[in-house]
Amino acid sequence: MKRWEREGVAELEDLNLPDEEHLKKGVAIIECIQEIPCNPCVDACPTKAISMENINALPEIDYDKCVGCGKCVEVCPGLAVFLVKVVDDFALITLPYEFLPLPEEGSIVKALNREGKEICDAAVKKVKKGKTTIVTIELPKEYAMEARNIKV
Ligand code: SF4
Ligand code: SF4
Repeated sequence: MKRWEREGVAELEDLNLPDEEHLKKGVAIIECIQEIPCNPCVDACPTKAISMENINALPEIDYDKCVGCGKCVEVCPGLAVFLVKVVDDFALITLPYEFLPLPEEGSIVKALNREGKEICDAAVKKVKKGKTTIVTIELPKEYAMEARNIKV
């Protein structure tokens, strides 16, 4: 049995990860690993980068087609999609955030890993309010594949 089945925590080996060139461009990373009837990410994608064999299948992403627009992050009810862009020594991570208070742009928050443990400080670069607010943080690039939430 995989760890996500026991504890609900995804591991990197469970995911389809982008390569370095895609990370420089900035792409969505889909961490949806449980087959459930759901597909708003497919419908939201303007470039048809996300596909599914059927409504119960897992979404697949074509990193060549992804333009990093973030629409799939906003619509995912499972809060399972993240944008990651690596610029020099830093990573910009855009993640869904549904708690209050919302972080303020320009503030420093704690970045959390998939288990909810604090891993480093992160600068809040952008807060886009909506049905699901999405927050863009900047942190050292070695945490690009670890940071998936924040603590305000
Ligand atoms: S970030 Fe935009 S282009 Fe990329 S998969 Fe999501 S919706 Fe599609
Ligand atoms: S919208 Fe989210 S939960 Fe639904 S299939 Fe897409 S990635 Fe998975």
